[in-house]
Amino acid sequence: MSLIVQKFGGSSVANVEKLKNVAKIITNAKKEGNDVVVVVSAQGDTTDELIEKAKQINENPSKREMDVLLSVGEQITISLLSMLIEKMGFLVVSLTGWQAGFKTNSEHTNAKIIKIDTTRLKSELEMNKIVIVAGFQGVDRQLNITTLGRGGSDTSAVALAASLHADLCKIYTDVDGVYTADPNLVKNAVKLKEISYDEMLELATLGAQVLHNRSVEMAKRYNVNLEVLSSFKNEKGTIVREDVKMEKLLIRGVTKDDYTARISLINVPNETSYVYHVFSLLGKYGINVDLIVQSYENQNKKDISFTVPLNNMELAVKIINENKERLKIQDLEVSSEVSKVSIVGAGMQVNPGVAAKFFEALYNANIKIHMISTSEIKISVIIDKKDSTLAINSIHDAFF
Ligand code: ASP
Ligand code: MG
Repeated sequence: MSLIVQKFGGSSVANVEKLKNVAKIITNAKKEGNDVVVVVSAQGDTTDELIEKAKQINENPSKREMDVLLSVGEQITISLLSMLIEKMGFLVVSLTGWQAGFKTNSEHTNAKIIKIDTTRLKSELEMNKIVIVAGFQGVDRQLNITTLGRGGSDTSAVALAASLHADLCKIYTDVDGVYTADPNLVKNAVKLKEISYDEMLELATLGAQVLHNRSVEMAKRYNVNLEVLSSFKNEKGTIVREDVKMEKLLIRGVTKDDYTARISLINVPNETSYVYHVFSLLGKYGINVDLIVQSYENQNKKDISFTVPLNNMELAVKIINENKERLKIQDLEVSSEVSKVSIVGAGMQVNPGVAAKFFEALYNANIKIHMISTSEIKISVIIDKKDSTLAINSIHDAFF
């Protein structure tokens, strides 16, 4: 007998029909003799609608009250789903995040899980019940309700699988696995059988929407085997785990991120402490700097370009402008019309020529590269946004 944690996202539980479908998947796993713990998201767009409702009342509500409101979405799902399963004749119990023992820090709307006290949950399992847990929520030490950040129920599910030493954590979603590229943009994209934690983490961070990146970090830390699969098709999905055979694939996937902006500081002093001053200033305001490129120095002057998430661009420019004199910046260039295109794959560590192939594909498509950055298992470039879909298609064709 195995212990399985199943997680169903918002689109998989959006209405009664879909809840019925999910109830069937859950009870089938139970009938096969497994212990089953289920984590669910709020139905469909519920979380967005709750945020909208709050805005109509107060433009700037406290994060504590936002959490009280947002946690309701998942609570609706657990009760409805449990009622359905009851009706099918199975023993079942719904638990809110706090009843399931999720203890978090007090960082409202983006709380981190500190520990999970699974005593209650285990006793429910011992009574042979299917346990349905509300994802995305917990309580802090003062018992204030907290939520884990958008997309956080993936993390709830993986954390629970780790605490319970589950045999498998199945993430059911509206896509049927992890693809070599976004199948909506790249016609020839194929589903991967397996991917390693590190590769998945890079892909999740670089813009693939399948998994919350904190859930992948947690899966890696506690060695939780994950499977990403569709709740609508009865097919195997993609397994995420530590060691993965490369199957002669040089890379695992191609992604693009259109939500990035490039900022260039032109003709700044060529002083050793300079980059430190600029980036510590931006860091103080919580701005996440990604790619950084420094030009060759010319007569004691140099240029520095970097990228920030698009929603940080205005703030970054404002801070730099306010400090323009002190930082001796002659000119500032800003562009939101750029994209970051990346390839990810552990295979590039051992196979030479991956970078050459990547650049060749961009060259053949006549795409100009503005910036380049590499790590052990990824290469990213900044290009014009208008070229980004062409770029991922050309790169995908070159590798797959
Ligand atoms: N309902 C939350 C959200 O929409 C959490 C989740 O679905 O993972 O972000
Ligand atoms: Mg999600």
